[in-house]
Amino acid sequence: MTDELCKNKYSGDIYRIIYHEKQSSRQNIASALGLSLPTVTNVLNVLKDNGFIYNAGSFSSTGGRKANILSCVPNARYSIGIDITKNHLSIAIIDLDINLIVQKRIRYRFVDSDEYYEYISQELEQLLDMHSIPRNKLLGVGISMPVIFNSDNKSIFYATVIQTFPGIYDRIEKHLPYPFLLFNDANSAGLAESWNSDSNQAMLYLSLSNSVGGATMNGKYISVGNNHRASEFGHMCIIPNGKKCYCGQRGCLDAYCSALILSDFCDGNLKAFFEELDTNTGYQRVFDDYLDHLAIGVNNLRVCYDYDIVLGGYVGAYMTDYIDILKEKVAKRNPFEKNADFIHVCHYKTEASAVGAAIYFIDQFVQSM
Ligand SMILES: [Zn+2]
Repeated sequence: MTDELCKNKYSGDIYRIIYHEKQSSRQNIASALGLSLPTVTNVLNVLKDNGFIYNAGSFSSTGGRKANILSCVPNARYSIGIDITKNHLSIAIIDLDINLIVQKRIRYRFVDSDEYYEYISQELEQLLDMHSIPRNKLLGVGISMPVIFNSDNKSIFYATVIQTFPGIYDRIEKHLPYPFLLFNDANSAGLAESWNSDSNQAMLYLSLSNSVGGATMNGKYISVGNNHRASEFGHMCIIPNGKKCYCGQRGCLDAYCSALILSDFCDGNLKAFFEELDTNTGYQRVFDDYLDHLAIGVNNLRVCYDYDIVLGGYVGAYMTDYIDILKEKVAKRNPFEKNADFIHVCHYKTEASAVGAAIYFIDQFVQSM
C-alpha cells in the first residue's frame, strides 16, 4: 500500500465495498459509509491514481445523471497457489477477482527435499516470466498439501498420505523468495469452492481424492475447529469393524470412498475407470457399491450440519453424470428430506486446492487495504 493510501482512514472501507459488490458507485459508497460525496471522491481519486480501481462504464439512468460504475482492477495484485500431492504438482496464479491466470499441472513425485523445492521454484519463475507477471505485484504463495498443519501454517501436526519431516517450512524458505504459508489441501479446496459460490451460506466440502477429507465453510471462511483438525470427514466411521483405514482404525469413509477404490481397477487411472464405466458391468457394480457408502457419509454430514454439500476431489470432478443416482441413495437414508438437492458437484476440477491456497493472500490483502 502507498503512503497516500495509508494516510486515509476510509480507503480500506471504500475499497472493500467496491471489491465485494464488484460494481459500485460513488453515491452508493457515500450512503453505505455515511460519508460526504467530496470525501468519497477524494479517496476514489487516490485509489484510481494508485491503480486499484477504475471506471467501468456507467449504470443505466433512473432519471438524472448516470452514475459511474466503479470496479476493482483485477490485476493490481496476484497470488500464487501450489498444490503438492504424492505424484503431482499444480501451480495456479490468480488475480484479485480469483480469475485463473495461469495453471500448470506436472507429474512429479513428491520428496521432502531441497531438490524438490528447487524444482518448484524454477517452474514458478518460468511461469511468471512466460506470463509477464510483475514480481512486485505478487502477494504471496499458498502451498497446499495432504497434511494437517498447526495453526502457525508452518509446522506439521499430522501427515501420513505423503512423507514429510519437521522443519519443512525452513527447507522451502531456502528456495522460495516470496512470503508463503502451508495449508491443508481439502480446506484450501473448500475455500476455493466457497469463494466461487454466489452464496454466503455455510457449506461443507467433501474431497474424494486418493484420501478423503473435507472443509467446513462458514460463509467465505474455513472453520478449523478447536485443534485445527476439523472436517476430517474421511475418518468418520461408516461401517463399525469394517475395512482397515490407513489411519489405523476400521470402517472409515476413506476406506470405502477414496478415489483409489475406483482407480485401482485401472492401474491408478481414474479417467480410464469412468471412460469404461458405461460398458463394463463389473465396474458398474464397484461404482454402485462406492455410491452406497458415499451416500451413508453424505447423509451423516447432512444430518449433523444441515448445510449444502459440495463433492470435490478426483472423484467429485466426475460426478456430474452420476449425481442423480447419489441423490436418490442419500434421500432414501434421510429422515427429513424427500430429495437431496443439497448435494452439488464441484466447480473446480483439478486446481481447487491450488486456487484456495492462493485465495488466502487475496483475502489478507483486501482485509488490510
Ligand atoms: Zn481412518
